[in-house]
Amino acid sequence: MDHKKDIAIIGGGPGGYLAALRAPQLGRKAVLFEEDRVGGTCMNYGCIPTKYLLHQTKILKEVRETKTVVGGAGIGLDWAAVQTGRLAVVDRLVRGIEFLLEKGGVEIVKGRARLEEAGRVAVETPDGPKTYRADAVILATGSRSASLPFLAPNGAEVVTSTEALAFPEVPKSLLVIGAGAIGLEMGSIFKRLGTDVTVLEILPGIIPGSDRETAARLERTLKKQGLRILTQMSIAGADVVPGKVTLKGTCLKNSVPFEYSAERVLLAAGRRPNSEGLAADGMLTLGRGGFVAVNDRLETGIPGVYAIGDLIGGKLLAHKAYHDAIVAVENACGMNRTVDYRALPIAVFTDPEFASVGLTQEEADGKGIKVRAGVFPLQASGRALTMDSLDGMVKVLADGEDRIIGAHIVAPGASEMIHELALAVSRGSTLGEIGGLIHIHPTLSETIGEAALKARNEALHLLN
Ligand code: FAD
Repeated sequence: MDHKKDIAIIGGGPGGYLAALRAPQLGRKAVLFEEDRVGGTCMNYGCIPTKYLLHQTKILKEVRETKTVVGGAGIGLDWAAVQTGRLAVVDRLVRGIEFLLEKGGVEIVKGRARLEEAGRVAVETPDGPKTYRADAVILATGSRSASLPFLAPNGAEVVTSTEALAFPEVPKSLLVIGAGAIGLEMGSIFKRLGTDVTVLEILPGIIPGSDRETAARLERTLKKQGLRILTQMSIAGADVVPGKVTLKGTCLKNSVPFEYSAERVLLAAGRRPNSEGLAADGMLTLGRGGFVAVNDRLETGIPGVYAIGDLIGGKLLAHKAYHDAIVAVENACGMNRTVDYRALPIAVFTDPEFASVGLTQEEADGKGIKVRAGVFPLQASGRALTMDSLDGMVKVLADGEDRIIGAHIVAPGASEMIHELALAVSRGSTLGEIGGLIHIHPTLSETIGEAALKARNEALHLLN
């Protein structure tokens, strides 16, 4: 016999669990299917554990590098204790989400689920198969690390970020394929632990798709920290033997062949959606790369079936999945919401951090917008000087009417600073409004106001 709910959600990551938390607030009974652990990639293997390791290793880096700390050079990290700490943080968060779901009356069903037809989900549970009927179904099965045609994870020499988080020992050498957020964050973690890290990127710069000037600023800084970042490196083959991986290819800058070896290689060159086997063949329309196609209300081609988060592509970010979740579940409850990604911020949690919102200079130029750009370097910030953190900048872009259309930051805490500019982009605030806002002194956020003023040639702590 079919069980009956108002909303059935497949996948308990940020997209799925948030949809499940919102449903009871709207008076709906929800069931959440999860084959692994609630919290999904983000909480268990992504956002949270990486930030824990980044924080732990940053403490080490700061103690070692702060010139006034005596004896810092000899200090190390207890890797086993760090691993215990990582698991404790993740467990606490997962338990917190389970508690909230339980209090909301959400039924959590452990098992692999599949959309049988509109409004009907089958699930393989440890107690046997079950079927559920629901007025609406939300697909939120996320994504996984992509392999290369000649290189797949083997759990030893070739790993994804999931295995790298839990390396039993810190490797002596590591090759990272891909200089996006995951590659740079994982590369930074291991570089700080003493691993010889080489990042290979096929495109001309790091953080593909981001504002070139700002990304180049971060690239220079990371290289200064000893992270070997090589761009325009086209990898064509790999040799894997126990304890050693060799990557071979050609540098596109000069057509010279290359060969790099290390104990381990991390695949961080893109992700693939978990769309295979999610529904009967041909039921869902898949777009490029297998991502599920949806309209701007996040409805698939099947009425009453929505898809959200990494599964539908775009920016593969937890907070994008959160936004999608609210839009989809509210539409499932009869509202008429559409997604709006114009002010979706992104961050890379290196040191300094990178954060960005809205259009890049290249995108604005491509749209024919007459851009006014204001760049304020951290060298001119008193707060940055007190932190001995002068590598960075804030760049604010405005259109012909002085409305802020994009902003890009390299700075400690950039992921926190960017929200003022996300609000500016979403509200169409002007350079004058942000430049005139009273920022606390001395803070790095003052540089946001100064960058806005600089775009009008009115910066106060910098020559115009
Ligand atoms: P997921 O989190 O992938 O959740 C999908 C869930 O569905 C999984 O739990 C899976 O087990 C389950 N599932 C799949 N198929 C089925 C099925 N058939 N039946 C039942 N259950 C199923 N994003 C950020 O915003 N900030 C960060 O700092 C950040 N850091 C990251 C670091 C790393 C190393 C990685 C890998 C990712 C990071 N991300 C970050 C990205 C973020 O994790 C994802 O964007 C986010 O988890 C997507 O959420 P989701 O709900 O769409 O999918």
